[in-house]
Amino acid sequence: MQIIHDFKIPVKKYSELGQNNNFPHPEECPHCHDKLHKHGFYHRYVITIDGKCFWILIRRYKCQHCGKTVSILPAFLFPKFQRSLNYIICCMKEYLLQKKLILYKQAVYFYLHRFT
Ligand SMILES: [Zn+2]
Repeated sequence: MQIIHDFKIPVKKYSELGQNNNFPHPEECPHCHDKLHKHGFYHRYVITIDGKCFWILIRRYKCQHCGKTVSILPAFLFPKFQRSLNYIICCMKEYLLQKKLILYKQAVYFYLHRFT
């Protein structure tokens, strides 16, 4: 499960801070309401609207009761997408309002389909 959290910092700053970001610690497991324990990090990439690619860390917690994990996803990301949320919204907006493609057509159609 992923919990989306607004760190209120830009992607670049989040990337630079790495493990030193101010990660929230969820009070309880969303599945069984037991305590969550820190469970390391995983990394992923994010592509911002200016075409830059950043390597970022995602904090993970694990419930020792039910064994499920919870990740804290920064709000500038959209789950399972590499491009930032701003980038995706901008692509859809440009296409819907001006029929302008700032990404290849297949990707824009994919985003539109996912959001509808
Ligand atoms: Zn649990």
